[in-house]
Amino acid sequence: MIPVCEPNIGREELENITEAVKSGWISSAGEFVEKFEKEFARFLGVKHAISTSSGTTALHLALSALGVKPGDEVIIPDLTFVATAHAIRHCFAKPVLVDVTRSYWCINPDRIEEKITDKTKAIVPVHLYGNPCDMKPILEIAEKHGLFVVEDAAEALGSEYMGRKVGSFGDIGCFSFYGNKIITTGEGGMCVTNNDDLAERMRLLRNQAMHPKRRYYHVDVGYNYRMTNVQAAIGLAQVRKLDTFIAIKRANARLYSLLLSDCDDIVLHPEEPWAKSTFWMYSVLVDKRDKVMLELKKEGIDTRPFFIPMHQLPPYHDNNGYPASDYLGMHGLNLPSSTRLTDDEVSFVCEKLLKIVGGKR
Ligand SMILES: *Cc1c(COP(=O)(O)O)cnc(C)c1O
Repeated sequence: MIPVCEPNIGREELENITEAVKSGWISSAGEFVEKFEKEFARFLGVKHAISTSSGTTALHLALSALGVKPGDEVIIPDLTFVATAHAIRHCFAKPVLVDVTRSYWCINPDRIEEKITDKTKAIVPVHLYGNPCDMKPILEIAEKHGLFVVEDAAEALGSEYMGRKVGSFGDIGCFSFYGNKIITTGEGGMCVTNNDDLAERMRLLRNQAMHPKRRYYHVDVGYNYRMTNVQAAIGLAQVRKLDTFIAIKRANARLYSLLLSDCDDIVLHPEEPWAKSTFWMYSVLVDKRDKVMLELKKEGIDTRPFFIPMHQLPPYHDNNGYPASDYLGMHGLNLPSSTRLTDDEVSFVCEKLLKIVGGKR
């Protein structure tokens, strides 16, 4: 079976894990945590990186640090992974859904302002499947209405908007290191910010809100959202391979787009003129998506459907109408996108997909 996205772990990761375990520092104290945070911050070109136990806890930590509280509203795209919405509910706040664009799949900036009320506290744009959001109008709207911006960049590590890496535009950017993400630590996440006070607040809340200079003196209600030294040991080796991983992902995407470009019945993974995508999962839009998935499975090719739009899920149900999100949720298909994928495998997937979908000119 050709997997959708598998981790790419090598000798460097194993050496770091061994060193971390041998040192005895297997919880969250230890040298690797700080080293990983420093190199991650340098990669993104931001001042602070605060590691967490997952991408979901990174989002919750970010929203908590910004003071999102019960009764607040937070704007998110209707098409995203559910963790974006869950993290808002974990603050007892309300996710307010906005439709995405049909063309590049991220939150539609033209539909944000109609959802802003006097309870709105923040916007969480999600860079979906590696595609950067159109950040300029989003930041302008946030500025105009006095809203925070938390970028959910879990799927877009290294992606760029107008030449600058996503995650560095908002007040805080959040990342995930789950096993299928661009780099992995097993489970894990990261918050980044250029704001010293927010960084300090996130470090405090991450560690049970314990005063940094006075042990067991807890100044607030905090969490245990710390990353372990063993996870960070993996992360450090991974972040050093990130440029290579991105180059591979982009090369795979180029090959997919080239080999599938002749078929009228396949909409290719878009890349806007202002975007450089890391193509977390190279994705296409096809009719009869679920049938296509089954046929590909028979050929030994594993794929994923796009996320189910948030408004279709029981906890976030609403009837306001999200046509672009509905369309993409029904037609979107993630193709195998691992950094270990070979050109032959990409060709094989394309050959089978073209045969199943047909419509070759
Ligand atoms: C993966 C992901 C997350 C959550 O990350 P976990 O590490 O699995 O908690 C959040 N948002 C998006 C868009 C994701 O894809």
